[in-house]
Amino acid sequence: MQIHPRSKVHAVTGGGSGIGAATVALLAQAGHTVVVLDRAEPAQPVAGATFIEVDVSDEDAVVGAFAQIRQQHGRLDGLVNSAGIESRRLVRGMDAAAWQRVMGVNVTGTMLCTREAAALMREGGEGGAVVNVASIAGKRMSYSGDAAYTASKAAVLGFTRHAAFELAADRIRVNAVCPGPTLTPMITRNLSAESIEAVAAVVPLGQWVKPEDVGHAIVFLLGDGAAMCTGTSLDVDGGVLISNGASH
Ligand code: NAD
Repeated sequence: MQIHPRSKVHAVTGGGSGIGAATVALLAQAGHTVVVLDRAEPAQPVAGATFIEVDVSDEDAVVGAFAQIRQQHGRLDGLVNSAGIESRRLVRGMDAAAWQRVMGVNVTGTMLCTREAAALMREGGEGGAVVNVASIAGKRMSYSGDAAYTASKAAVLGFTRHAAFELAADRIRVNAVCPGPTLTPMITRNLSAESIEAVAAVVPLGQWVKPEDVGHAIVFLLGDGAAMCTGTSLDVDGGVLISNGASH
């Protein structure tokens, strides 16, 4: 007899593009209800997913978006924090506004959405799961030499550990994934074809990570198979972190 897991309600920030969109598609295919939280309407909407327009760095907007989820679905089982931006600036070219923009979306946005999601999960009384999309940049440094991005992703990993400990009492698990170079619009709008090829050459597994590779890791961490995982991070990087700059 095949046992199907109960269909759940998941919210995915940044679900309109790249890693978030791939995750939305995988969750919808598995029969879950998915709410996309993004500042822009998805270019390719996924059947079965609904969309709420929200800037995750705006506290009032985030509170309003989760109130809408409460009203429409009455519960929440999973949150994926995938909304993220870069500044593409070194320290020497950084200004406070560019720094705050990255911190506002990547760090403050992750905190605000986790706070609101956890309140909804607590009401449901059955626990829940949060997956934060950090980056290997949070453990090493960003490829593009982006000081704010590296600092923000290290902060997301620290926040993941804190939230995992605090929310364990409510049976809410909080984990992170750390993607390596992943071919998404964030990359293709900034890198030339030659640079894209050059990056693939330094990945031990020889290719860019695909958005759905990260999506599968996120779906695992959201699911019951990861019931005893909390406060951890899963690298999905084709071996970049272990290679120490060496290439074949
Ligand atoms: P992407 O640009 O394709 O998607 C990001 C999505 O976030 C977009 O839909 C965008 O509209 C949304 N977004 C941005 N700011 C927002 C805001 N203020 N409020 C709501 N939504 C907002 O990028 P991606 O590569 O899929 O990135 C997803 C996550 O993965 C990001 O957190 C990124 O830092 C992380 N990441 C990406 C890579 C990579 O190589 N692509 C590597 C490591 C980590």
